[in-house]
Amino acid sequence: MMSNSPLVNYTKISPNKNSPRSHKIDTITIHCVVGQLSVESLGAIFAQTSKKASSNYGIGSDGRIGLYVEEKDRSWCSSNADNDNRAITIECASDKTSPYAVNDKVMNSLIKLLVDICRRNGIKELKWKADKSLIGQVDKQNMTVHRWFAAKSCPGDYLYSRHGEIASNVNKILRGNEHVYTANTKLTPEKFISTIAPIVMKYHDKYKFGFPSIIIAQACLESGYGTSNKVINPMTGAYRHNYFGLKYRPGRVFVNNGYFTESGSEQNADGSYTPGKFDWYKFPSMDAGVEGYFQFIKNGLYKNAVLAKTPEEYIVELKKAGYASSLDYVSKITNVVNVRELTKYDDKKPLTYTEPKGTYWVGYLVADLKIGTKGKIVKFAQKLLNGAGLKVQEDALYGEKTAKAVSDFQSKNSLAVTGEIDAKTWLKLTASNGIHI
Ligand SMILES: [Zn+2]
Repeated sequence: MMSNSPLVNYTKISPNKNSPRSHKIDTITIHCVVGQLSVESLGAIFAQTSKKASSNYGIGSDGRIGLYVEEKDRSWCSSNADNDNRAITIECASDKTSPYAVNDKVMNSLIKLLVDICRRNGIKELKWKADKSLIGQVDKQNMTVHRWFAAKSCPGDYLYSRHGEIASNVNKILRGNEHVYTANTKLTPEKFISTIAPIVMKYHDKYKFGFPSIIIAQACLESGYGTSNKVINPMTGAYRHNYFGLKYRPGRVFVNNGYFTESGSEQNADGSYTPGKFDWYKFPSMDAGVEGYFQFIKNGLYKNAVLAKTPEEYIVELKKAGYASSLDYVSKITNVVNVRELTKYDDKKPLTYTEPKGTYWVGYLVADLKIGTKGKIVKFAQKLLNGAGLKVQEDALYGEKTAKAVSDFQSKNSLAVTGEIDAKTWLKLTASNGIHI
């Protein structure tokens, strides 16, 4: 019993077809419409017998899916009867000129639809070799393109060059691995940052705490630059807009759209991971996802972070209060800030942790400090020593007195007494201050 996709939003059955198809469905043929059309406009074209054309499905420029020829029937789409008798054909709204690009909504719907077609028709995986000589050998390649059957550029270079990536994304979802969904092919890190940065700055102005550089870096890291399964449901393609990995805590956030449950993992103090199922906030938009973050921090147990005067203090306080379980969260965040040059979003104020150049947080786990070292990192170490009950001046100079304090600290904590801060001493020193790195 052949069925049609439950993902269809609009149906207008075309007279241009053969019923029923003469071959079992074992092939996929993706086409470009050459026009940013809606599913209704495409349906109106295929409704005309004079056009002598149709497809099984069409995806409009808004991502909605149309059904024009039922799966049990053969569409007139690929200029080849053998192909159309065994293929599901899909027309995608595209630009009118080469490379006939499709937008992300179309791409996401295409992935969804392909997953559904494969599941219902027993196609275990999509195979693509870009090899015309393999037509009909579906055990080697079960995707075909119109340009192999007629003097056409269809599906256009944009879709043609992404066939391998489309197959790979579909196959990952078919195998049940939700965490690798990357259908958002046009969302580069740069584009993600330029999209979310103005929203972060808007709510930074409204809530008046935190630092845009750090918050944008958190969104980059937590969401994989807008591509994680917390942002998009990998099974349906529906947006969840949770860019900060915010776990659901009733009463803390007021702009959300309920929550969803999904597995994740938390890192333990010894570096191991504990997997589990967690509830995560779901938001109606990126705007709400960002405001949700500010509410989450403001109404949570992050008082010290809200009061932070510098970006590094902000991220350290968030970590201390349990925002993230990843042991190297602080250095990961500051690394993103430096690599992506996000400090320009901090009201143009110079960043305080630029000395030694860009390596302050990134390097502090491995940098051995000893007599003669100076700078911000020494001042931070002195602050930690004071926090651990020693008494040193926070003058950013590693002199005899700091070395003596370090020796005392090492002796008290059963560490080798060297007067120098090595990795083990750093770990103890930060732990004594409640910072678990
Ligand atoms: Zn075509």
